[in-house]
Amino acid sequence: MARKRKTKRSKTRLGAARSLRRRGERERAKDQVAEPAALDTATVELVEEDTTVVTATIESLIEEVPLVEPAADESATSDTSEPEGGAEADKQPSVPTFTDADWEDQSYALMAEQAAPSPCPDCGRTGFFGPRALDGQPKFLACRFCGHFQAVGQAPTRLRPVAHDCENWPEAAGAPYIWWIPMDEKWYVCHYCQRRVGVARANAFMKGAAVTPPADDPNHPWWKVPQDASYDTYYKLWENWPCTKGRVFL
Ligand SMILES: [Zn+2]
Ligand SMILES: [Zn+2]
Repeated sequence: MARKRKTKRSKTRLGAARSLRRRGERERAKDQVAEPAALDTATVELVEEDTTVVTATIESLIEEVPLVEPAADESATSDTSEPEGGAEADKQPSVPTFTDADWEDQSYALMAEQAAPSPCPDCGRTGFFGPRALDGQPKFLACRFCGHFQAVGQAPTRLRPVAHDCENWPEAAGAPYIWWIPMDEKWYVCHYCQRRVGVARANAFMKGAAVTPPADDPNHPWWKVPQDASYDTYYKLWENWPCTKGRVFL
């Protein structure tokens, strides 16, 4: 394919050279005062240039063949016939992939092996992040300190923190409990008072529910939660509040 295209282009350029040469001949025949020497030089240069292009094209084709073959052999075991560049691009940690198996592994470590909760890949805090599941939804990882969220098979994102000021809204570790909702949601129904709550920040016209993520608020009480602690430590900590009882991460 590449050979065909390059040859065609070379032919076109050769054709241009020929027509220039023919035009030169016509010019000379028409007007003997013209300077044929200059035209001849131009014609010769063009023809030489075309020859070089054709030679270079053939050489590059010859060189290309052995370059492709060993790469294909090397990657035969990894069932891809892509050139080396593609294989290397796959290895780059662009968007972290997260599978059902990863979720199962993390859950098993926590629930069966009682491993210490791992740090959030986004904010780095422990005791807030871990594998979670809701009925009828893909399994996901989430952090209640910064809002990091990643569902199985999807890229990580961040959720928006909200808290209602109704009397039944719970408290945990010295601060109102936080719900994390998708960034583009404008309303949510409060689980504790059943009212529909606007998400926008409070202003003169409405009471908003949006709050600052603890990760962005240096004075938030959740910064005092012990870090890199054991399963038991977190289990005992979160047992202190009804809404977090039985958890090892918030
Ligand atoms: Zn986080
Ligand atoms: Zn409420």
